[in-house]
Amino acid sequence: TMKEPTDLHEVIDEVLQFLHHEPGRQDLAISKEYSLDLPLAHVDKKKIRQVIMNLVINASHAVEGRGKILLATDFNPERGLASIWVKDNGPGIPKQNMARIFDPFFTTKPTGQGTGLGLSVSYGIIKSHGGDISVESAPGEGAAFHITLPVEPPES
Ligand code: ADP
Ligand code: MG
Repeated sequence: TMKEPTDLHEVIDEVLQFLHHEPGRQDLAISKEYSLDLPLAHVDKKKIRQVIMNLVINASHAVEGRGKILLATDFNPERGLASIWVKDNGPGIPKQNMARIFDPFFTTKPTGQGTGLGLSVSYGIIKSHGGDISVESAPGEGAAFHITLPVEPPES
């Protein structure tokens, strides 16, 4: 698959557009804080779309369809990295699960409702782009997933 210059805001918007048509999201408040100077990222668009989809669907499950989800972006010119945050105000991740959520097949969802593969697949995709994915969470205060991705190198 192909890495090409990609507008990450467009990718996020596609995911949100899709989620908009999902049932059971009536009281979901999704907000965006987009960087004004985010350069194009050097990514496989479909794979990054899959990662953002996984994170946003997890967030919507966490808030049970009636909370807040924030999609934010930022650019670090010194490191040449674009950032995407997916933040929710759900129950958060218990401390004892923090080290395991990126493991394949780790799920806290009832049998048949979660494969436990979303985050592990997402981790692999982000690593294969030379990026990183991490999470911050305090129980009761939601979860904030942070992705970094390399931007297109400037023309020389
Ligand atoms: P699945 O969604 O199938 O359970 P994932 O790999 O996507 O698998 O997520 C693994 C686990 O990480 C979830 O079962 C849940 O316990 C935890 N998790 C992921 N995202 C969130 C979130 N936004 N808030 C709270 N817990 C989360
Ligand atoms: Mg999931």
